[in-house]
Amino acid sequence: MRSAKFAVISGIRPLRRSHDEDLTLRVFSIATISLALVATTLSACSTTDFRQRAIDEQIDPAEPGGGLRLTFFGTSSFLIDDGTTQLLIDGFVTREKHRYFRRFGPSEQQIRTVIAEHRICRAPGAPRKAEDPASCRNVARRGLELVIPTHGHYDHALDAPYFAAWSGATLVADPSILSVVKASQAYPGFSLPQRDWLSVKTIPPFADGAQTAHLAAGAFSVTLIKTPHGKNPTTPLLSGTTSAALKFPSSLWALKEGTAFSVFVAHRGRTMLFVPSAGDIGDIFRQAGTKADIIFLGIAGLGFKPPRARSRYWNDVVRTVGAKRVIPIHWDDDQVPLNVADGDTFKPASPRRFDATLRIFDELARECGLEIAFPPPARAFDPFKDLETRLITETKFQPRCE
Ligand SMILES: [Zn+2]
Repeated sequence: MRSAKFAVISGIRPLRRSHDEDLTLRVFSIATISLALVATTLSACSTTDFRQRAIDEQIDPAEPGGGLRLTFFGTSSFLIDDGTTQLLIDGFVTREKHRYFRRFGPSEQQIRTVIAEHRICRAPGAPRKAEDPASCRNVARRGLELVIPTHGHYDHALDAPYFAAWSGATLVADPSILSVVKASQAYPGFSLPQRDWLSVKTIPPFADGAQTAHLAAGAFSVTLIKTPHGKNPTTPLLSGTTSAALKFPSSLWALKEGTAFSVFVAHRGRTMLFVPSAGDIGDIFRQAGTKADIIFLGIAGLGFKPPRARSRYWNDVVRTVGAKRVIPIHWDDDQVPLNVADGDTFKPASPRRFDATLRIFDELARECGLEIAFPPPARAFDPFKDLETRLITETKFQPRCE
């Protein structure tokens, strides 16, 4: 694993947009968002079957003890923990009411709550490892080694730099994420010492021209695979690279897409693929030879696409990689906090649209004998629970489309 110290960029003058440009952007943004809000409101008036299914078909939270555990923090954020090493995918937990135009920044309080409640430990050799609780200082416990924001938008990248600075984990960071690091470092009010920010370790996601990259941490082998972001009416406002002049508090529109990718994780013969954004995947996974038992499938925005596009997305991802269990992600309202009662789930952002997507997915899953399941909200679970048993004991469950 390559590593590079994050250098503070100095002497860069903030780029100032003219008042007219600001006004044009604002008017365009308001018009686009108004349309999106009308669509969302109409959807919210319809059935909430999706929410009920996300409760009824939830994988049970895991009993305390060893083994591979994942914790879903909504959107496409996951803590992955095998009892020794921890990885964080995205790690967006701020989940404040932004109402699309309110300025905000990473919530230190939310991040520290997640660190404490989910027993995230500092990386091996991290400067303030001695401040970790005793359970984190056990020689077998290595702690958080990699923080992997899967693109630069706020609902993926906002909190990733803080987690990396706090823990000493290596942060996968393209130029957009580096701007979020810089803005976080300068954000007033954080209790984290400046020396923690100055020692953030970053690595770029891909070498020049590469489509894939390999990383390793403990028993985990991680492959990043470049995949396109989904397209919707707001995509043009959020594409490109985040300005190096980014400052918090900021509007969410300032955090641009940067480099978007999916993440393949292998752990002791078990394989998982995280596809955070429902873009046009085409033959990317076929070309990369990706095979995974479980897929965490991003479905945000998919309900606005024609049924044919939804089937194509399923086939390009789920069938190509030969998945046996499909876990839909990125369907929750990211302005609702993480604390959810037992037996409940996150509030879906757009229930009717997700119902429509699920109807098509159900059909495709039945065709191939696959299972669709949901992650419990903010509780550790074993994504492989019952999967091997079912594959052996239930003939109707045998995947038929590989
Ligand atoms: Zn995005």
